[in-house]
Amino acid sequence: MTSPLSFGFNFNNSYLTLPKDFYTQQTINKFRAPQNIIFNQELAQTLELNISELEQEGFIIANGNKLPQNAQPISQAYCGHQFSHFVKLGDGRAVLLGEHVTSNTSRFDIHLKGSGPTVYARGGDGLAAMGPMLREYLISEALHGLGIPTTRSLGVMSTGDPVFRETALPGAMLIRVAQSHIRVGTFEYAATLEKSLLQNFSDYVIKRHFPALINEEVRYEKLLQAVIHNQARLIAQWMCVGFIHGVMNTDNMSIPGESIDFGPCAFMNRYHPATVFSSIDRHGRYAYQNQPIIGQWNLTRFAETILPLLSDDIEVAKEKTLEHLGSFKQIYTQQWLQIMRHKIGFLTASDDDLGLIEDLLSMMETHQADFTLTFRHLNEPDLLDPGMTSSEAFHQWALKRNQRIPEHQQQQSQQLMEKSNPFVIPRNHLVEESLEQATQGNINPFYDLVEAIKNPFSQPKDSYYLKPSSKEFEQTFKTFCGT
Ligand code: AMP
Ligand code: MG
Repeated sequence: MTSPLSFGFNFNNSYLTLPKDFYTQQTINKFRAPQNIIFNQELAQTLELNISELEQEGFIIANGNKLPQNAQPISQAYCGHQFSHFVKLGDGRAVLLGEHVTSNTSRFDIHLKGSGPTVYARGGDGLAAMGPMLREYLISEALHGLGIPTTRSLGVMSTGDPVFRETALPGAMLIRVAQSHIRVGTFEYAATLEKSLLQNFSDYVIKRHFPALINEEVRYEKLLQAVIHNQARLIAQWMCVGFIHGVMNTDNMSIPGESIDFGPCAFMNRYHPATVFSSIDRHGRYAYQNQPIIGQWNLTRFAETILPLLSDDIEVAKEKTLEHLGSFKQIYTQQWLQIMRHKIGFLTASDDDLGLIEDLLSMMETHQADFTLTFRHLNEPDLLDPGMTSSEAFHQWALKRNQRIPEHQQQQSQQLMEKSNPFVIPRNHLVEESLEQATQGNINPFYDLVEAIKNPFSQPKDSYYLKPSSKEFEQTFKTFCGT
């Protein structure tokens, strides 16, 4: 049954033009008493949605009996390498309601997470608890505020039904907005099918996400290049704000290059390259410093899926992919270096920059300096870690760095640093505290935190949002997948 309301969604579901192997039509649970918990008005406006309908009645989307007009819910099939092991997956607790097309023809997946079990649930309950859904809302909006490509969150609705994990928790559903939910894992799934289906799917992806490549003679090779480029840039951006995704399995790597799937992710406070927060990442596979390496590993899995499309001669196909995969490190380093130059106020490039940035990071590691605030306050040494600034090494470093910024560039350099270094990240202790309160029925600290992370480059009125998590907190802090 559909609702008389459209909520302004202009659905045009191109995924349904793919062969049926790629998805399954799906129903949505009928929940007892859905209610809006948080609604992203600004995003709704960007998407040209009906704000008053969503605000007043949006929660009925969580009621499987009343879908918005023209919604055609499906769950998508995919596979993935999870902690390096290949698994057949698919949307186990999510559905794609449809693809919303705006007046400028931009296309967005409107996705419900926590909407009940699907054919891909593998014994899971298909549900989500409120804490992890609010967490995804917060972190995805934080990345967006930081200017980093990411799926976004239109809202979270409580379902009125409990979800049973170690204890009974309030259930919730997230409305996720993405360029698409096509993952490296979707290609891994396509590669298990006949070659004609893999080709059909790859052409669909090119048309949808990389239309400039449609008429290229070597379009699959160009697709590989484009995906490598987008991932190298994305991971460089993560590294430069201290973001740790936490579960970079291939099913959690998006082909259009958005950050996706915010389970055990967190931002690092004190700088340490081996930082890992995820409770299930016992060997640190997805530690902060490993993210570029894992990015390349995942892209290698992607390249393997399209080998049959690159050449009829498998050896030729392999050679081509190796060449492109080999460029990942260089593209990543260039992107990282460019952002880091801006973070320390350099308007131009010099061969010495890499060494200079590495020296700063090494001092930050020694003194366990806060990643975010060290960059933000680099021109105000009084606000930096006194142990670090009083050292001879830092003194020498600052002399060298200051020599790279001539007097006539100083104002511009300062402006560049202000645009490149956030004041606010979602600090781990604040995230945990706000989610705990929300789960107990007090949502206000969460609303306040969402407001604080929206404009991370402006100094917050309340210094409460600036303070790093304590060392003791970070040493024991663990994140969970939220399943
Ligand atoms: P994730 O760790 O969120 O990337 O999820 C990995 C896989 O597990 C995906 O196929 C999810 O759809 C599935 N999954 C996670 N939680 C549940 C759940 N509660 N019920 C069914 N499937 C789930
Ligand atoms: Mg996932």
